[in-house]
Amino acid sequence: MYIFETYLHLRQHAALKLRTLPKTLVGVISQETFEKYRAYNIDKSNLRFVKQFVTIIIDSATLLFGVLPRLWKKSGDIVESTGLDAENEIYQTLAFLACVMYWSQITNLPFSLYSTFVIEERHGFNKQTFWLFIRDMLKGMTVAIVLGPPIVAAIILIVQKSGPYLAIYLWGFIFVLSLFMMTIYPVLVPPLYNKLTPLPQGELRTKIETLASSQNFPSKKLFVVDGSTWSTHSNAYLFGFSKNKCIALFDTLIQQCTNEEEIVAVIAHELGHWKLNHKIYSSVGVQAGRVQMGFVSSHWKLDLMVNILILLLFGGYTLVKNSNDLFTSFGFDTQPVLIEFILFQYTIIPVQHLVSFDLNLVTHAFEFQADAFAKKLGYAKPLRDALVKMQVGNLSEMNTDPWYSVYHYSHPTLLERLAALDEPHNKAD
Ligand SMILES: [Zn+2]
Repeated sequence: MYIFETYLHLRQHAALKLRTLPKTLVGVISQETFEKYRAYNIDKSNLRFVKQFVTIIIDSATLLFGVLPRLWKKSGDIVESTGLDAENEIYQTLAFLACVMYWSQITNLPFSLYSTFVIEERHGFNKQTFWLFIRDMLKGMTVAIVLGPPIVAAIILIVQKSGPYLAIYLWGFIFVLSLFMMTIYPVLVPPLYNKLTPLPQGELRTKIETLASSQNFPSKKLFVVDGSTWSTHSNAYLFGFSKNKCIALFDTLIQQCTNEEEIVAVIAHELGHWKLNHKIYSSVGVQAGRVQMGFVSSHWKLDLMVNILILLLFGGYTLVKNSNDLFTSFGFDTQPVLIEFILFQYTIIPVQHLVSFDLNLVTHAFEFQADAFAKKLGYAKPLRDALVKMQVGNLSEMNTDPWYSVYHYSHPTLLERLAALDEPHNKAD
């Protein structure tokens, strides 16, 4: 996987180094802007090479030197030293996970510091202070500490108690958990990082309200998110429970789009996701003030497929769980539940990459559909302008390698989206 992905990355790096603007963007973007983001993306790409190399070295060393079994034993000692029951697998697992979290924070820190305070800073994106950075890191750890232990404990209990129908019980648990995360997470977590203030009365608000009520969107809650405290990257998204939906715009989006119609067009695209039932799934993450979401399923057939896939995965897990040889070859003399999952995960990495590639194809289709939705409402022109401005504002890659982008990106590239908007009859129609 590392060799294959590095090959794709090299192809992408070569595309980033191209000195010519793609044809569609000639006249839309100045040569000066192009040079600016070209430099930014080459910097980011170089850092990615280093990070991936360090990661593969650390991961291989972890396996080669039997770090996991040693850490597992050490976690038992830690539990014992606190006076808790050292035989309790849940305590030992939590101690183990705490060590892993601590270690991954330490190994990640140099990269996130360099990325934020050297690369983003050099290209004029970073608005974060060092304290804001530390505060966000601590908040992220707190969320993990609050949400993690109950979930981990529940999974261990299920595995210990369920007997032959384990796969079905686990699937049921994940199903309920994902429903819970889908509704709770976007409501509770982004406000920990960002300040949401109601969009003031005015023409923009009236326009968005008119559009939302024409589509029967069940709410008039409109918020502005203070993304500019972190960086100049921009975004817009919808969140909330069934009847209690909200629309959130990043203040950076409002600053970048000089024309109000463009902002309304971006909302029209987001409303398209909602109207077409592109469900938000659990990968809602907040990073440096950017809320990122993935969309997984639009249709019961796809829902069904995703659920069958999860069930199959747990079936595979029960096979791994029963293989003693696997544990001894990784240096374990016991079979803790968490370690079962970790070893299982090692064995299915290639499958995982294939699945995420398939999901990318699905989300690509969703983006085209949401664009087509906005186009049908008459927003083709302003959406086009807004996409270009957001791309310029975010200094995203303009020249991309087609292999790389189809493998890694959840969204189609700007060029593909513009081409679809320009088509007289959209493919999604
Ligand atoms: Zn979208």
